[in-house]
Amino acid sequence: MAQPVSNNSDFITLLGIETSCDDTAAAIVRAPLEASAGAGDGEILANIIYNQFADHSAYGGVVPEIAARAHVERIDHIIEQALAQSGCVLSQIDGIAVTAGPGLIGGVMVGLTTAKAMALSHSMALIPVNHLEAHGLTARMVAALDFPYLLLLVSGGHTQLLWVEGVGRYRRLGTTIDDAVGEAFDKTAQLLGLPNPGGPHLERLAKEGDATRFAMPRPLLKRAGCDFSFSGLKTATRHLLDEENVRAADIAACFQAAASAHLTARTERAMALCETFEGSRGEGIASPHLVVAGGVAANETIRDALGGLCHQRGWEMFVPEAKLCTDNGAMIAWTGIEYWRAGMVPDANDALAMQARPRWPLDNNPEGPRHGGGKKGPKV
Ligand code: AMP
Ligand code: MG
Repeated sequence: MAQPVSNNSDFITLLGIETSCDDTAAAIVRAPLEASAGAGDGEILANIIYNQFADHSAYGGVVPEIAARAHVERIDHIIEQALAQSGCVLSQIDGIAVTAGPGLIGGVMVGLTTAKAMALSHSMALIPVNHLEAHGLTARMVAALDFPYLLLLVSGGHTQLLWVEGVGRYRRLGTTIDDAVGEAFDKTAQLLGLPNPGGPHLERLAKEGDATRFAMPRPLLKRAGCDFSFSGLKTATRHLLDEENVRAADIAACFQAAASAHLTARTERAMALCETFEGSRGEGIASPHLVVAGGVAANETIRDALGGLCHQRGWEMFVPEAKLCTDNGAMIAWTGIEYWRAGMVPDANDALAMQARPRWPLDNNPEGPRHGGGKKGPKV
């Protein structure tokens, strides 16, 4: 590892590129060079996101080939826009952080190839980033949050509980054995005839429903550990729709309440486990921290339930603002900054040789039994 030199002796400025699913995103983030300056000191100079909803709306989900093509068509323009908004010229950018996986292979290749070409032609550092890690570190860009902490990642493609010990150091405590929670919201919303992506629409509809109207299954009640399962809730919804005189709003409210209760129950188990880890409270930290990230973190019922759990157990909860919870380039640039500060920027040749990785677990030795599944739909 040869540490690159920044253009400015006090700051690092990175371009972040994200193309792993259906968002074409680029951002410029600046932070003091000195790691001792602490966390929460990332300054987002630009954060441009183009969402491809319209490109996929006719198909009821993300179509990988369409996504890859849409990334190719827009990525150059999105990067130009990010540079223009930041007021930076390329010579002021120290390096490029880019999502190298996990995600839809075609999209990841578009971002990675663009970043490699730019890094080569402008002699800039290249930092390939794990998309999941970027979700996990985002909170430190905007809040003074020290390691370690528990991360609940709830997105369209992932539902994971991770113990975040440091940059590049993760312990996976639980993951989904079938659908991701966002995927379950979207598929349930689709069954209810709501537009795609259905999560926010389902939440709106649920406000008019009675969450106690139907008894929903409680997934994995007898299974030890912190894994998740959401496919049973989706099936229960389908069966309810076969009955007569059921109100869609009641179904939405019951599904949401059950999903929220499941997330909360598994998170509580993870908390109990983390409390046994050495240094779980961190140096000088009075209470352990739960960070919630991913698009589903926008859901109020889920946030309230997790907030109540934290209050009850004496934990502190932090949820970055919605714009930073869903896929974006700033979280990728910030992860590059974390690697830079930690002196972990890869050699240029290694970075240029990095291939796009559709699967890239953060922890190769997760707690508990290994199993298949995890992600059925294409969304990441
Ligand atoms: P991400 O995969 O992190 O980009 O987040 C997108 C996912 O979050 C999609 O599955 C959305 O339906 C879901 N989502 C966004 N807002 C909400 C919400 N308010 N309630 C439930 N799910 C949501
Ligand atoms: Mg994501």
